[in-house]
Amino acid sequence: MQDVSTLSLEEATTEHRDLSSRIESLNKAYYQEDAPLVEDAEYDALFKRLKALEEAYPKLVHTDSPTQKVGSAPAKGFGKVTHAVPMLSLDNAFNSDDLQEFESRVRRFLGLPPTEDVAFFAEPKIDGLSASLRYEKGQFVQGATRGDGQVGEDITANLRTLKDLPLQLAGDRAGFPDVFEVRGEVYMSIPDFQDLNKRQAEKSEKVFANPRNAAAGSLRQLDTKITASRNLRLFAYAWGDASDVPGMTQAEVLQQFENWGFSVNPLSKVCGNISEAIDAYKKIEELRSNLDYDIDGVVFKVNRLDWQARLGFVSRSPRWAIAHKFPAEKATTVVQDIEIQVGRTGALTPVARLEPVSVGGVIVSNATLHNEEEIERKDVRIGDTVVIQRAGDVIPQVVEVVLEKRDAEKTVPFDFPKTCPVCGSHAIREINPTTGKEDVVRRCTGGLICEAQVVETLKHFVSRNAFDIDGLGAKQIERFYELGWVRNPVDIFTLEEEDKSRLQKIKNLEGFGTKAVTNLFEAINERRQIDLDRFIYALGIRHIGQGNARLLAKNYLTLESLMAAFAPDQEDPGKTYVDLLNIDGIGGAVADAVKEFFSEDQNRDILARLQGQLSVIPFEAPDDDSPVAGKTVVFTGSLELMTRAEAKARAESLSAKVSGSVSAKTDYLVAGAKAGSKLKKAEDLGVTVLTEQEWLDLISG
Ligand code: NAD
Repeated sequence: MQDVSTLSLEEATTEHRDLSSRIESLNKAYYQEDAPLVEDAEYDALFKRLKALEEAYPKLVHTDSPTQKVGSAPAKGFGKVTHAVPMLSLDNAFNSDDLQEFESRVRRFLGLPPTEDVAFFAEPKIDGLSASLRYEKGQFVQGATRGDGQVGEDITANLRTLKDLPLQLAGDRAGFPDVFEVRGEVYMSIPDFQDLNKRQAEKSEKVFANPRNAAAGSLRQLDTKITASRNLRLFAYAWGDASDVPGMTQAEVLQQFENWGFSVNPLSKVCGNISEAIDAYKKIEELRSNLDYDIDGVVFKVNRLDWQARLGFVSRSPRWAIAHKFPAEKATTVVQDIEIQVGRTGALTPVARLEPVSVGGVIVSNATLHNEEEIERKDVRIGDTVVIQRAGDVIPQVVEVVLEKRDAEKTVPFDFPKTCPVCGSHAIREINPTTGKEDVVRRCTGGLICEAQVVETLKHFVSRNAFDIDGLGAKQIERFYELGWVRNPVDIFTLEEEDKSRLQKIKNLEGFGTKAVTNLFEAINERRQIDLDRFIYALGIRHIGQGNARLLAKNYLTLESLMAAFAPDQEDPGKTYVDLLNIDGIGGAVADAVKEFFSEDQNRDILARLQGQLSVIPFEAPDDDSPVAGKTVVFTGSLELMTRAEAKARAESLSAKVSGSVSAKTDYLVAGAKAGSKLKKAEDLGVTVLTEQEWLDLISG
């Protein structure tokens, strides 16, 4: 892979766009459909590359980038809990160099002299799911999952069944903070996992792929008796909202957790500096196979809490912690067949069917081959012996072919189909407008007629973050589609009317009944009013996630103006496209996808018919009450009360724009000691000049 620093901006933009959309679809499969398409190690590698591109070309970062998001929205059926302090993810390190680099970043941010060591607290990275446990005056009152980091699922009753969770903190009542949220990992031991699967298999019920899945499936249960029967355990390792923090370091707080009656992982320890941290990683890796629970790496946290506070957060992870992941596990097996799956966006994905083999204790029989180019590059053929690898509960990937074992007479190169196996339409590799190169993914051109895509488009249309229609989920969509009752989004809104004239009525279908049908029609009617951004997201346009949908809504304000911009008789299509590209955060791929979608006659027809069925509410901008929201600020001179990186991060978190140069558009220049030409320019232009202290007063006011 080419070093990011040698890429031109154009090349980086194209790669960033392709990579984002690939990660976006992997996220969807993993978080929303619980059906990962690649193994974690590969996902992590893609994510790392995306971050490297954004670091080298900061312009590429936009609100919709996968680097800016965490997990997925809470599931239905559970109450929602808004986290007062977000539950984030962790940045990853894959080797000692990454870990060293992490330490250097911490040092630079804090501006530490070379003589000062940074102590880290090392904790095994438990492979379970995180939970937040709220205590008020020592009493457990509420528990929640991470969800999308901001809002989680209320699982208080389920958590109460955990033996490791003290319902009342131990110790001196007078010393309990008014409010304290303990955070930790809920997990299942390997023996409990094996017993559970044995019992499940005997009852012909669902068996789980690994302990992490089993823990998640057991905790997020509407029936708490099931949770209680599963012997889940808990290690505490962090905290959220807290009226008082009992300690000055990570180690001290975790000691207090133990005093309060929590289990803290016994392998956790303080490392005086980065080389001790690297040793701790090796030690824990050696112990890994003897543990009776799964761990997938080691987490390192800056031990001093005052430093943690100064380091703060980036969008999806704290700057003061990193997860050093273990490498993936490998095995060798034979490719029995290669099959093509067609996804919602029409992407043709090849999957290798394998002779079943055990990889790290899990039986594996499928591996992804990603795309046509990957098959060619690795020259994977049916009948080949291959090395596969997996990490965690995901479809493994084919790493390489064992050429010495190839029987040249029995194997031929795989002929990748040029037509869609579902609908027979041509399948093409789009030409990238900037590079002139072919896209790595071959896509079906069948759009709305291809069953694989229409059904998925409809499922997306009714999904939680889109129309979210009660009683109309993926299953019902599939059924109605098969019956020919819902073939496009408009059919959903004419379902009631059509049902009246049909002989076979919905109420006669198994699983329905008069009451269910009345409820369904009511739920559909409730959605005849929808916010513009949700509506745009629901359309399932390529590259348009919730963030981009919001950007479009914010800029076009109404569906009518969005449609008018791309109408076939518009006067200046070139200008429309440029306007679209000028929206901050919208890149070339997104602009192309939007243009293609709204210019396509079939889509315009569906949109016009939808407008006849529902009303799309124009976008209204929310108030942003930060005192510096939308203001442009420049920092200059040497800052004494904060480092430059800290100042920038803080300003950006308050919705201010930080610029490197002074112009007439600058609102504030914050001048530290020895400020030079920028200060002069600001004074010449009449820009407000603030001292560091004045700036801090302004943002805290
Ligand atoms: P993560 O699992 O890498 O790290 C964050 C989580 O670690 C926390 O939420 C917490 O649950 C857990 N954790 C365990 N021990 C901890 C400790 N001692 N201190 C702090 N946290 C601890 O991040 P994530 O956001 O949950 O998931 C991203 C990961 O999921 C990726 O690294 C990737 O491997 C996987 N993923 C895979 C795919 C795929 O297609 N294979 C897609 C999406 C995500």
